[in-house]
Amino acid sequence: MSAPFEDQSTHPAVTLLCDLIKRRSVTPDDAGCQDILAERLAALGFNCETMQFDDVTNLWARRGSETPVLCFAGHTDVVPPGNLDEWETDPFEPVFRDGLLYARGSADMKSGLAAMIVALEEFIDEHPGHRGSLSLLITSDEEGRARDGTLRVMDTLTARNEHIDWCVLGEPSSQHQLGDIVRIGRRGSLSGMLTVRGIQGHVAYPHLADNPIGKFAPVLAELHTIEWDKGNDYFPPTSFQVVDVRSGVGAPNVTPGELSARFNFRYSTEWDHEGLQSRVHEIFDSHAIEYKLDWHLSGKPFLTKPGVLIDAISEAVTEETGLTPELSTGGGTSDGRFISPAGVDVVEVGPVNESIHKVNEHVKVEDVIHLTRIYKRIIEELLL
Ligand SMILES: [Zn+2]
Repeated sequence: MSAPFEDQSTHPAVTLLCDLIKRRSVTPDDAGCQDILAERLAALGFNCETMQFDDVTNLWARRGSETPVLCFAGHTDVVPPGNLDEWETDPFEPVFRDGLLYARGSADMKSGLAAMIVALEEFIDEHPGHRGSLSLLITSDEEGRARDGTLRVMDTLTARNEHIDWCVLGEPSSQHQLGDIVRIGRRGSLSGMLTVRGIQGHVAYPHLADNPIGKFAPVLAELHTIEWDKGNDYFPPTSFQVVDVRSGVGAPNVTPGELSARFNFRYSTEWDHEGLQSRVHEIFDSHAIEYKLDWHLSGKPFLTKPGVLIDAISEAVTEETGLTPELSTGGGTSDGRFISPAGVDVVEVGPVNESIHKVNEHVKVEDVIHLTRIYKRIIEELLL
């Protein structure tokens, strides 16, 4: 472990974090955060490009034209604070208390951004003639629709043949302490919106009606009992969950004419979304019911296999924290789903995620400093 920093609140990553927190960058408003980052990066010799798509602000910054290209990625937007009465302090005013820094975005993920910038400043100061290129891909729409953010920037880079080799995403990946978990992939997310049709009728005359609840029940039971896969070395088993079922007209003597339901798969690399969809349709068809099913794919699964990037990150985390990080594919989706398909190795390493999206979101101040050192070590491992 490194020596503790004298006054943690004056560490450059912590002061930068405070500047970012004061910008009320609720999705998709960047609120000037990227200007702060771009100014610091330009001073380091980065070529900074703002890519504005609709109301989303994105920043692509690059230093050097050589390969390999190491990219730090993240987002300036934050989720809304929610009920202000439940916040003990102003969510957009950084407050230090008992070694913690409270504010919206303190963990997700302005501390990641601040740590990246200061790590880059320190690295470039010491090694201005490093090999390869350094880059940053920052969006203001990760928490929202994610349509005009990282996805569009990646499309732009791909169209001009600009390739990234390694990407470090600064999302809060840690669970109990900094560095205990790094994410080397994410499960896919596939949602189904179902409508089952029947014929509405009097509850006393079921032969004259066609009750969609009774028709859907055995299909639901079957979908729930299927073992979709056993997972694999990197992924937990695929999970199927129903999130909503609606039917009924609100009267005890009427059977409904329609049922709607929503369900979601979080799926491993054992499946692709077409395979899951056709399996589900087979099951519905085998029950001979009249239904309509619309699908929404929000992210395909991705995985970074062991190699140079994971080694560099694991070593950096262990040197800085003493922990051997668990290599996980858990959690929700992230913008890694848009970066990985371009053939990029993507790993997420960032602060503890216990308070993200909640009221009184916070980050351990010393974790911001340790994270800065972890990022700097990662750059050293890869570009020296
Ligand atoms: Zn985030």
